Amino acid sequence: MTDIQRAMRLEVDSVSKLYPSGRGVTEALRDVDLQVLPGEFICIIGGSGCGKSTLLNLIAGLDSPTSGEIRLGGAPVTGPGPDRTLMFQDAALFPWLNVKKNVEMAPKLAGRTKEEQSEIAQHYLDLVHLHGFESAWIHELSGGMRQRVALARCLAANPTVLLMDEPFAALDALTRDHVHDELERAWLETGKTVVFVTHNVIEAVRLADRVILLSNRPGQLKAVWRITLERPRHAEDLEVAEIAATITAQLHKEVSSRVRQRL
Ligand code: ADP
Repeated sequence: MTDIQRAMRLEVDSVSKLYPSGRGVTEALRDVDLQVLPGEFICIIGGSGCGKSTLLNLIAGLDSPTSGEIRLGGAPVTGPGPDRTLMFQDAALFPWLNVKKNVEMAPKLAGRTKEEQSEIAQHYLDLVHLHGFESAWIHELSGGMRQRVALARCLAANPTVLLMDEPFAALDALTRDHVHDELERAWLETGKTVVFVTHNVIEAVRLADRVILLSNRPGQLKAVWRITLERPRHAEDLEVAEIAATITAQLHKEVSSRVRQRL
């Protein structure tokens, strides 16, 4: 690891999270340690309710750990900030603004001039191949195109870390393949760090440098796979399917151990 990589890394340091609940306390995460290098693409997988979104929200600064610390570039995360952008399954675009105005919103909030807003928005719309759709309304777009607008808007905010919470879960398989291509290309061109939550193992292997499996609740680091397959990858590649099968077997083992505990 170089000094610059060390300085800009995202560190999750012994993070635990408890939520008070009607029946006592829900322990969502326990002692999670994770170091993500600048420009690395991490996918987090795990059974439903194991704490994946909790971890992402903590990194986003929308909530704080009960114990432990999250640092970006050595500075503790104490709340939301422009260095981290969160993208959800629901694109959360503004329906009263056209495509370009939606993307311009990010540099506008950062105080950029009108000219810069337009330039930046155009750059990222071109990057996700939405040239020609600048003046379209959100309701005129397909689900995949909306997610590409949302991705362009996230990138236009120029964060250090892009946090993605099952952003493509509602898309059909063909559209998802296409959006994966766009995301991979945009990621390679921008060099952003990506932390991506999914329950789709093929998607994780298709996209990630490292796949992290969280255990059943309380979520703890259960296993890590480094994916060194050449890029661009495709969901139907044999090597992707083989690695995904290994990971799926371990994921099933983890999820079924919880089912057994409940029986
Ligand atoms: P995942 O994303 O892996 O499905 P979550 O991170 O959403 O899991 O949730 C982990 C656990 O924490 C679940 O049991 C969930 O009910 C609980 N939880 C999540 N957010 C809250 C909250 N704001 N208040 C109380 N409990 C929560």
